[in-house]
This record gives sequence, structure tokens and C-alpha cells, in this order.
Amino acid sequence: MADLLSIAEAQRLVLEHARPLPAETVALEDAARRVLAEPAQAEIDLPPFPSSAMDGYAVRAADTPGRLRVEARIAAGKPAAGALEPGQAMGIATGGVVPAGADAVVPIEYVVEHDNEIEIGGGVESGENVRPRGGDIRAGEVVVEPGSLLTPARLGALAAAGIPRVRCARRPRAAVLPTGTELRRPGEALAAGEIYEANGLILSAQLEAAGAVVELMPAVGDDEAAHRGALEHALGADVVVTSGGVSVGPHDLVRRVEAELGVEEVFWRVSVKPGKPIAFGVRERTLVFGLPGNPVSALVGFLLFVEPAIRALEGVPEPLPRFDHGRLAGARRRNPERDELVRARLRRSAEGPLLEPLSGQESHMIARSAGADALVLVPRGEGDLADGSSVDYLRLD
Ligand code: AMP
Ligand code: MG
Repeated sequence: MADLLSIAEAQRLVLEHARPLPAETVALEDAARRVLAEPAQAEIDLPPFPSSAMDGYAVRAADTPGRLRVEARIAAGKPAAGALEPGQAMGIATGGVVPAGADAVVPIEYVVEHDNEIEIGGGVESGENVRPRGGDIRAGEVVVEPGSLLTPARLGALAAAGIPRVRCARRPRAAVLPTGTELRRPGEALAAGEIYEANGLILSAQLEAAGAVVELMPAVGDDEAAHRGALEHALGADVVVTSGGVSVGPHDLVRRVEAELGVEEVFWRVSVKPGKPIAFGVRERTLVFGLPGNPVSALVGFLLFVEPAIRALEGVPEPLPRFDHGRLAGARRRNPERDELVRARLRRSAEGPLLEPLSGQESHMIARSAGADALVLVPRGEGDLADGSSVDYLRLD
């Protein structure tokens, strides 16, 4: 068993084959959660004009303190009719265009106005409460760098800088194919020996959350012809994710049929628990993942290997899962041969995140997993990981 690939080696092999997909033009309204492929440059200086940071009066700083005549009132969206002359002030709203000749805004609460005259008690400095043109960004400067996830804040930055469309890698198309003669859909009656199909939903929901366009195919039975037909169709996608049928039993057909269809296997079996019999191969640019059938194995295999591949296809520069650090609540026996991902409840404590492993860690126990918020990495080795040990964990939300 010592010759099994480590998680890190397997991830490296996956990422070697996962190059960003070609870019396409995307309207900003459709770009949320996409990854930018090319730098997005500001169309304009932002702000596009010197604008007032406050409701108040535009003035010449040199005229303060003093009494000034209110010559005009400037609303947001409307420039002043003319320039401000010495001895004058203009009422101005937040976001209003600071008129030529003015170099400061006195906030309304510092001023007493009557009969169209204001009394300014203290002096203001040049530039006070004026947002200079281009003070946020200048036309032509890069607003968002390639490889960035388009979060709401970044979309706002792009919109404010006048950018209507961006270039993003095409969304990966993924086909999900559960295998197993025993699988029925929830809502159907179970005959003897049958169970409900769970992996299709686990995997398609995860793929969608990762930004893929997903086709969830109906489960196929453990029959070569059925496998061949379904896999041939699935291989038209950028990413194929099967579940089940990758172990060593006589009904485990996925790898054999894939090989017949021209899939070149890159690896099979990784030193991870659960999820050891995972298979990964390629056919031209299509990435082909064979996840084991036990639902928790499929979930773990997805997070460690499939999700990073999807993110790499989308152009994310560092696509591997980001582990957080916490402390283990209770001691835990290590597996001598395989790194283990242990389902745990995450609690906040004064000493930081605390991870309490759930009881029932077998890979078929998907119902118990529903109570888990995290997967704790327990590195392979001899003996126990002591109570309170520092551990890495992945969040499950
Ligand atoms: P396999 O990897 O095909 O040997 O399947 C391992 C275990 O996972 C068996 O108990 C299967 O019945 C179960 N299993 C396989 N596929 C699914 C699925 N899509 N949903 C729920 N359980 C499954
Ligand atoms: Mg099976």
C-alpha cells in the first residue's frame, strides 16, 4: 500500500491536465462568480469629475473664515452653470460637481445660512471634502486582475469604472453519471437490494456551486452496454464525473469501458480515506473522474480532486482547496497508510476553531454526515493525534 499516490501527488497530476478553457465575452450582469480571464481596464477616470463628499457649500478655501453670498445650488447629476467667483459660495449635494474656481466644500452643519448668505466660523483647507477626478482610479488603469473571482464588490468596481462586458473562461460543462444496478430515485419504491441514489445530487450541486454547467444523467446499471452508451455521451463534456464501479469487483466496469472509449488513465487509487479507489484519466481535453460509490467517498473525492480541476479550468490561479487551522477536540487514532478526512462539527471557542469528530465515520454514512460542518485532515501515521492537536480542516458549506 506504500506505493499509493499521496493526495498532493494526485492533485498535481489532475492540475497538470486542467488548463483554463478559452475565454468568452460576458455581460457584467452574467459575470457574478465567474473568473476574469483578461485584465479589465477602467473606461473613465473615477470619479469622472471633482465631486463633493458632503452636503454643504462649495467655496474657495482662501475666502474662509468669512461671509459668502450663496450664488447657486448644485444638485447631484447637474453641473454648475458657471464658475465660482471670489466671495461666493454654492450650495452643493453629496456627489455634486464642484464648480470651477471652488477648491473645498464646507459641510452644511458648520455653516449658518440666512438671506442667501452663509457665515463660516472656521477656516477650511484647499481640497477639503472634494473627491478629485480620478482619485479612485484613472481611465486605462486595471480595475480587476485576471484570475480574480468576480465577487459582488468587484462587479461593483467594474460597473463604476464603466465596463459593460468582461472576458472570462468559458464555463466548464460537466456530465455526472451515477452507476449501480441497485440505484433508485427518491420517491420510487425500493425492491429488495435497492437503495436510493444520492451521489448524483451531491456531485451536481457541488459542480454547480463551483461554476460548472451540469448535466446530471440518469443512473446506469452495471452492464457494459449501458455504461458504454452513457459514457460515450458524457465524454462530450469538459469534465466527466462518474460514481461507483471503480473498485475491484466483477461489476466494477467504469475504468474498463472508459479505456475502450479512449480514456487514458492517469492514476487509480490514492492514499486517502474515504475515497481510495478514485480514478482519473483524460480523453483529449476531457477530464474524467471516477469517484467511488459510497457517498462520503464521492463527496471527499470531489472536494480534493474534482473541484480544484473545475476551478483550474475556470482560470483560478490557486485552485486547490484552502484548509483552515483549528484544534482537535479529543484524541484520534491515525490510519497508518492513508490520510483521513474526518467529518466533524465546528465550534467557535475562545482558543479558536474547535473540531469535534462525529461518531460514525464509515464511508456509507451519508445521513450522519449531514451533521458535519467540516472535514478534518488526520495525516497518516502511527499512534494517536492527541486531544487539542493543531489540525487542518475544510469547511463543508
Ligand atoms: P461501488 O463503488 O459501486 O462499489 O459502490 C460502493 C457502495 O456505494 C455500494 O454500497 C453502493 O450501493 C453505494 N453507492 C454507489 N453509488 C451510489 C449512489 N449514487 N448513491 C448512493 N449510494 C451509492
Ligand atoms: Mg457499484
